[in-house]
Amino acid sequence: MRIVMKFGGTSVSSDEGIKKCVEIVKRSVLDGNEVVVVVSAMAGVTNKMFDAISRVTVSNQSLVKNFIEELTEKHREFARKIIHDKKLYENIYNEIERLIEEWGRVLTSVSYLKEVTPRSQDYIVSFGEKLSSSIVCAALKEAGLKAEWYTGGEAGIVTDDRFGNAMPLMEITTYKVKKNLEPIIKERTIPVVTGYIAYTQDSTTITLGRGGSDYTATILGVALDVDEIWIWTDIDGLMTADPKIEPLAKTIPTVSYVEAMEMAYFGAKGLHPKALEPAANKEICVHIKNTFNPEKGTLIEKNQSVKSVDIAKAIAIIRDVALITVSGAGMAGTPGIAAKVFGILGENHVNILMISQGSSEANISFIIPHDRVDAVTNTLELALLGSGNVRGISTEKDVCIIAIVGADMKGTPGVAARVFTAVADEGINIRMIAQGSSELNISFVIKETDGVKTVRSLHTEFQLDK
Ligand code: ASP
Ligand code: MG
Repeated sequence: MRIVMKFGGTSVSSDEGIKKCVEIVKRSVLDGNEVVVVVSAMAGVTNKMFDAISRVTVSNQSLVKNFIEELTEKHREFARKIIHDKKLYENIYNEIERLIEEWGRVLTSVSYLKEVTPRSQDYIVSFGEKLSSSIVCAALKEAGLKAEWYTGGEAGIVTDDRFGNAMPLMEITTYKVKKNLEPIIKERTIPVVTGYIAYTQDSTTITLGRGGSDYTATILGVALDVDEIWIWTDIDGLMTADPKIEPLAKTIPTVSYVEAMEMAYFGAKGLHPKALEPAANKEICVHIKNTFNPEKGTLIEKNQSVKSVDIAKAIAIIRDVALITVSGAGMAGTPGIAAKVFGILGENHVNILMISQGSSEANISFIIPHDRVDAVTNTLELALLGSGNVRGISTEKDVCIIAIVGADMKGTPGVAARVFTAVADEGINIRMIAQGSSELNISFVIKETDGVKTVRSLHTEFQLDK
């Protein structure tokens, strides 16, 4: 078989983790598989880099120096712990020095300019993955495997030029990845590819969005026609609910692509929302596994082999959101108001998570990320109030979204009744409801303080603990 294996940040942050990764790859190679490895940045490193960027633009040079020293020491120490062969260690030591020097130079110039463009930001944060994956490559070599390190761009991933959130151009990517990696794989060498980053068409480094290493794995999987994609992480696969909220939450053994995408969209830990699309198109199955507990995991495939007890698969909660309601009796029957509202949101690059309009047409409600609410409300007020149609714009910041996901809900009558009865029985007031026409999920908005209670009552209602 041909397999892409992606190792997440926590898997490559400790010597114990790296040992497990190397073991996993080695076992698979010895079993006769062709393996391609994708690596995330060490846990916390990307966040630190974003933090460094936001602070250097307002701050002084000593901060830059401290950041560089901290990062150098972290990776150096890590390499020292896991690479024992003298020659390999010397090589990786030099590689780390080279990468950090380059990183430091860009960070320093940004701090002089006090300005970061999306392009320079992507370049700066790309070093987290470059550092970790070069170390993982050395660790595989030390274990006696043949391995070769590539950045995402060098591997052949080419994207559009939306810095910070690039989309792959699959045709050219497939051509290039095949050309670059196929001969290596045939030689029984493991390509170790830097997750999260790629090249634009003019070979500028760009990122695939936060959590994008999963995306790297599925892009390579499709380009190389692999049999399976394995996402190695620190959780036991996709869960029926966040175990921190519902201690009875369980790993879901299998889900379909659409369900998993829905869950990723609603924030399921361990999955990039866009990552599944390429795999789903080619029907390549995706395993999500725990590096530290490989027995457990979730298989994402077209037709699920294991049915769940009831019809829902998972209950998700989305926090840090706010509800905005635009209302006015004059909105009824006046065309163009919704277009105006959403046009303004679009121009301001505000992501809308849910929308609803009552058939009275006297109000439109929608949910956006919490941190944008004040700015958005001001802009909407300036544009809409005084037009005669819109009378008020109200906001509620203390809300959350609850989403129930499951493909079997489709076409089954009575699901909504069960959901809302369970919620009503808890004495919880629902602020807004939406169901996608795919019927794969029902989502509704409640007070944030009711979130935990609601997740748990629905978890019980749909027998997800069974
Ligand atoms: N390191 C990147 C991030 O933290 C990409 C990834 O981990 O998948 O967003
Ligand atoms: Mg990550």
